[in-house]
Amino acid sequence: MAYRHIKIPTTGEKITVSNGKMHVPDQPIIGYVEGDGIGPDITKACLRIWNAAVEKAYGDKRRIHWCETFLGEKAAGLYDGNYCPDETLEVLQDLVVSIKGPLTTPVGGGFRSLNVALRQDLDLYACVRPVKHYRGVPSPLKHPQKVDIVLFRENTEDVYAGIEYKTGTPENQKVADFLRNEMKAKFFEGAGIGIKPVSEFGSKRLVRKAIQYAIDNGRESVTLVHKGNIQKFTEGAFRNWGYDVAREEFGKVTITEEQLYGEYKGKQPEGKIVIKDRIADIMFQMMLLRPDEFDVIATTNLNGDYLSDAIAAEVGGMGIAPGANIADFVAVFEATHGTAPKYANLNKVNPGSLLFSGVMMLEYLGWKEAADLISLVYPEVVSDGIVTYDFARQIDGATEVGTSQFADALIERIKGGIDLDAKRGAQQEQLAKERKQREVRRLLQPMEEMIESGRVPHTVGDLMTRSLVTVTDDETVENAMHAMTDNGISSVVVEADADGEWGIVTRRDIISRILNARKSTSTTKVKEIATRPIVSVPVETNIREAAKLLSEKNFSRLTVQQGGRIIGIVTETDIFNAVEKFGFLAD
Ligand code: NAP
Repeated sequence: MAYRHIKIPTTGEKITVSNGKMHVPDQPIIGYVEGDGIGPDITKACLRIWNAAVEKAYGDKRRIHWCETFLGEKAAGLYDGNYCPDETLEVLQDLVVSIKGPLTTPVGGGFRSLNVALRQDLDLYACVRPVKHYRGVPSPLKHPQKVDIVLFRENTEDVYAGIEYKTGTPENQKVADFLRNEMKAKFFEGAGIGIKPVSEFGSKRLVRKAIQYAIDNGRESVTLVHKGNIQKFTEGAFRNWGYDVAREEFGKVTITEEQLYGEYKGKQPEGKIVIKDRIADIMFQMMLLRPDEFDVIATTNLNGDYLSDAIAAEVGGMGIAPGANIADFVAVFEATHGTAPKYANLNKVNPGSLLFSGVMMLEYLGWKEAADLISLVYPEVVSDGIVTYDFARQIDGATEVGTSQFADALIERIKGGIDLDAKRGAQQEQLAKERKQREVRRLLQPMEEMIESGRVPHTVGDLMTRSLVTVTDDETVENAMHAMTDNGISSVVVEADADGEWGIVTRRDIISRILNARKSTSTTKVKEIATRPIVSVPVETNIREAAKLLSEKNFSRLTVQQGGRIIGIVTETDIFNAVEKFGFLAD
């Protein structure tokens, strides 16, 4: 098909999608948009670096055939003032994979933000931001090397859905009346009103992508970040749907954090990814205090907006933070910073953000060797002090170079060749060592680790004491008392009787049923005073429900069961301690 200005290369082949899979030929045609402002400077530099890496990794076998497409000011010049021509959107969809520089958002009526237009028209529902520290890059953290996460931000829903009603308009009045009169909602007169839709479909497709990424890239965990303690039916639902998709579609390769601490006693089984969740505000603290606890993050739109920029600042800022907006297959990789117009055409700025977006793109194509070449030589060049102005002002004794000279330095290193296997081997070894250290901490102090890593307990399984002390029916009460004293506990579980009923004997039982009844502790058998049947709750019981049951029944403890077995005890003291520590408990 003939386009007005876009020329599809006659060499190379298109990437295709069939049977739910993307097929990347050895000579793919890939779209690019130069971008506005500093866009041309960084794009020219990056095209040279990507091409050099592909050539070094694969020789003649593989090559990218670039197809220039137009958005922003360059498009406006070519398409009679149209910043977002239909043919560009069509080609980006058709070529499946593309990369773009920053774009000026035209100010004034009639224009949608170009990034929003792209996202909506191509249904790019996942905004993916890897954030990782490269040796030599200035950072405000003491141990920035601990940051290595990939954030998946939902891109289409939440407060970005654009459902807002301005104060003083008839629409606002109509919605306010409905909320007050029909829904009995209470809020101040004249409030602006916004609606935050979060759907099962939108949440699940985002989390599905994040889990699949974790599987494909040997990652350790996926953390669902949400504000479900306050917004139960949007943020809380996102979390629940996230767990659902993990269980329903990835059940064989995922476990929950609850299982990790419970069933597996803190030891992560080989080949399993841990699905956990964190409240958004805690996550900001955690990414500063214990960033290595987190790996892949999946979150709603607004949380993701804040969190991705905050984490990027930990490892060198927006100048080098890469990103991509991805649909099921169609993907647009992009520099995450703006057009920095004051630096346009000065050959000055850092190409890092676009460069690493290209690294993501190479990984997306499955061209890991080319991607690794760039990631591995980059820290060497920066550590040698060869950097653009933004880093030079933060590194003593650095040599400031322009965008294209920085690209030259990288290309020289790429051509010089590095021992990819040895470097990857060393990285893997380091990764394995760090995983082991985290595991040892979990094994030694499970409760402390759980709290320190920002987990808020949800279920009785998160709080219960697992080291159960059991006695048999025929044991004497005296021995049961010794067992309590020796283990510093106030109850023992009595093993199932002939009818399969478990029982419990508490200190209070001994006082009331032995001392008050003037019985002998040495001759009375446990079965004579045990409470049966035992009141037990499934391990996944919500803590609030357990608390309600305790107060309704006037008990001080519940036993916890899983698969027909009693596996722990949760007491009112455990619940008291949790509320005291966490202030609130997640539903
Ligand atoms: P900006 O273009 O990102 O620039 C802000 C500052 O960030 C620059 O002045 C510079 O800091 C630093 N910076 C940005 N890119 C850099 C790079 N590659 N290397 C080194 N430093 C870099 O943000 P803005 O000035 O708010 O926005 C300008 C235009 O970009 C607007 O039209 C906006 O709509 C658009 N924009 C587009 C995108 C996109 O297309 N994805 C994203 C954001 C903004 P110093 O001044 O300290 O050197």
